[in-house]
Amino acid sequence: MYENQLDLPLIHTGKVRELYAVDDERLLMVATDNISAFDHVLASHIPDKGKILNQLSLWWFQQLGMVVDNHVLSTEVPDAVAGRAVICERLEMIGIECVARGYLTGSGWVEYQQSGTVCGIELPPGLVDGSRLPEPIFTPATKAAVGEHDQNVSYDVVVGMIGPELAAVIRDLTLTVYAKAEGIARDRGIVLADTKFEFGRRGDQTVILADEVLTPDSSRFWDAATWAPGGSLDSFDKQYVRNWLLRESGWDKDDQHAGPPPPLPADVIAATRARYVEAYERLTGTLFVP
Ligand code: ATP
Ligand code: MG
Repeated sequence: MYENQLDLPLIHTGKVRELYAVDDERLLMVATDNISAFDHVLASHIPDKGKILNQLSLWWFQQLGMVVDNHVLSTEVPDAVAGRAVICERLEMIGIECVARGYLTGSGWVEYQQSGTVCGIELPPGLVDGSRLPEPIFTPATKAAVGEHDQNVSYDVVVGMIGPELAAVIRDLTLTVYAKAEGIARDRGIVLADTKFEFGRRGDQTVILADEVLTPDSSRFWDAATWAPGGSLDSFDKQYVRNWLLRESGWDKDDQHAGPPPPLPADVIAATRARYVEAYERLTGTLFVP
C-alpha cells in the first residue's frame, strides 16, 4: 500500500501492517487503515485506523516500560507514513500468539461450554459469557497461514514447540503485562477482557515485547459501566463491523461460494472509526489528533 512511497524493501504484508527493512537490525512497521473480519481483509478502509493503532500501542509501550522492554527504537519515520509507523528492532519472532484472558468470551467461551476448559485449563462450573475468571490465564494460539484461523493450543503444545524455559518466560511475561494493563484500563473505565501479545528475541536472546500491543485489533475492550456477565458486552473493536456483516449485509461467512465480504456502508465505517477513537481517547486521556 505504501510501497511506492517508500524507498525501502517490503519484507512482509500482513492483513493490517506492512514491514520494511531499514537495515539488518531495524524495521519500519507501518499500520495501514485496513480492517479484517472473519479472516478476510475488507475492501473498505477505516480512516485513521492505522494512526490510532500505532499511537495507542506507543502509549501502552510507555506505560509498560517498567514491566517489559519493547522493540520501539524511534517514531521518526518518512512523511508518507507519518503517525502510522515506527522504527523497531528487527527481532527473531517467537511464533506463538500469547493470549491472556481475564474474562471468559469468544473462542474461550465456546471451548468452556463443550468441556469446561479453555486451552485445556480447567475452570470452575457455572461461568457465563463475559464472566470474570478467578485469575487471568495464559491461552496460547499458533499463528495460522493467511486466510485461516489461529489455533488455540495447550501450554504443553507450546513447550513442545519452543522448549520449557522459553515457554515459561513468555507465559509469565504475558500474565505480568496483562495484569498491569488490566489495572490501567480499569482505572479508565475499560475492562480488558483479553489480549494478544507477540514476543521476539534479540541477538543476545533476551525476550522483549514486539508487534502492536493492547489495541482494539489485538484486544477485547468492554465498557466497564455496561459490562454484565451473560448480558450485553459492548466492545470497542470491530464487533460493529462483524455484526453488520452477519446481520445486515446479506453476506454468509459460512458459504464457501459467497466470495469476499461486501464493502462497508459509510455509516458503518464512521461508527467503527468512532469506536477506535473512543478507545484511544478513554485509555490515553487525550484527544486523538489525526
Ligand atoms: P495477521 O493479519 O494475522 O495479524 P500478520 O500477523 O502476519 O498476520 P500483521 O500483524 O499485519 O500480519 O503484520 C505484523 C507482522 O510483523 C507480524 O508477522 C509480526 O509477527 C511481525 N513483527 C512484529 N514486530 C516485529 C519485530 N520487531 N521484528 C520482526 N517481526 C515483527
Ligand atoms: Mg498480526
